[in-house]
Amino acid sequence: MMEKIVILGAGYAGMMTGSRLERFSQEFTLINQNSYHYFTTLLHEVAGGRSIPSNYAVPLTDVLSRPTTHVVIDEVLGIDREGCTVQLKSGRKEWYDFLVITLGSVPEYFGIPGLAENSLVLNSLDSAIRIHDHIVKQMELYMLDGDLRHLRIVVGGGGLTGIELLGELLDLVPKLCVKYGIPEELVDVQTIEAAPEILPQLPDALRRKAVNFLMFKGAKLHMNTKITKVTAETVHLEGDEIIETGTIIWTGGVRANPLLASAGFTIDRRGRAKVNPFLQSVDDARVFLGGDSAWCEGENGRPIPPTAQMASQMGHVIADNLTALANGRQMKPFHARPLGTLASLGREVGVGTVLGVPVQGVIGGMFKESSKLKYLWELGGLRLVEMKGRVI
Ligand SMILES: Cc1cc2nc3c(=O)[nH]c(=O)nc-3n(C[C@H](O)[C@H](O)[C@H](O)COP(=O)(O)OP(=O)(O)OC[C@H]3O[C@@H](n4cnc5c(N)ncnc54)[C@H](O)[C@@H]3O)c2cc1C
Repeated sequence: MMEKIVILGAGYAGMMTGSRLERFSQEFTLINQNSYHYFTTLLHEVAGGRSIPSNYAVPLTDVLSRPTTHVVIDEVLGIDREGCTVQLKSGRKEWYDFLVITLGSVPEYFGIPGLAENSLVLNSLDSAIRIHDHIVKQMELYMLDGDLRHLRIVVGGGGLTGIELLGELLDLVPKLCVKYGIPEELVDVQTIEAAPEILPQLPDALRRKAVNFLMFKGAKLHMNTKITKVTAETVHLEGDEIIETGTIIWTGGVRANPLLASAGFTIDRRGRAKVNPFLQSVDDARVFLGGDSAWCEGENGRPIPPTAQMASQMGHVIADNLTALANGRQMKPFHARPLGTLASLGREVGVGTVLGVPVQGVIGGMFKESSKLKYLWELGGLRLVEMKGRVI
């Protein structure tokens, strides 16, 4: 009898696993809380209102459509490794022979008082829409009461997510100012970063370019600055400085889905479950983990960073290894192939490295745009490129 494969989560790792299993005609069940796959790496564009939100998502069944694929829309509440079942919010239990966990991550608040309760985050299509609507609402409130706090936006975190969001907000602000007749110089967009630098993944020269460009566009960047407390209308910094604001967006860190810890996997300090070179849990050979869920050591012995690029590559290997097991063949180890890092700084400009070569400015922006097409092609071929390539 064929073994039953269940995939949890339809993000970069889960979708890539599913799409590749379809190519090998392997039957599987995919469980996800939404009926669509959204492009997490582009959520800052949704928050900045670059295009309509539906352009940044694709129905799961448009990509995974074989008769041997079963899509279940439900929320995973727990994983019972002894009983080989997954508990779902609807009350249903799904049993498995092999489980693929690709449930992504949740925000890491580092125990900063008030941060979780009082900040917006950018980690789903809905959250990106919330950020956009909140900023528009603040502009409207300013028009009613003239309180400048409505025009101050504080982004916590100067990593890839925070900086791409910042770049997009700097494009959004002038448009909203024209719409509401607000002088642009009244709007104050700030990033607070605890580390000495923003974009730690990039070489020094590119980081400096990014800083200069963002400051030229009007952002204030506070490096070496720790947030100590957050309330509904204030951000408290080390050294007793207090920023009064109507908008606080936290992008300062992620940790793996807490379901991994509660299922009793061996986890690292970011909550990711440890895997062997074949991406199987070190605790349970029936469980594979990919993307932000996997604590996977790279060739340098350091954990592979949580990126979409790595998640997709892991999805490939998980599908290949499941197929190898089904056919009595040897599994293959995962080798990360980092292609580079690209950060957009708004619609037209980007900085980053591609295969070790630095790119910046409009060329950097073009590489970032072409990375979208590359992903669509890998996931759904020409059909998905045609469906989404023109609108994102
Ligand atoms: C704004 C932003 C920009 C980024 N930019 C880049 C970039 O340029 N390059 C890059 O490489 N990486 C980037 N990243 C990081 C990248 O998006 C993540 O590393 C990647 O999405 C991880 O893939 P994943 O498959 O592990 O999880 P995800 O893609 O997050 O997918 C997890 C899926 O599981 C579902 N899920 C979660 N919990 C449950 C549950 N309990 N029940 C059912 N379903 C559930 C979610 O809805 C989601 O569909 C960015 C992240 C953000 C937020």
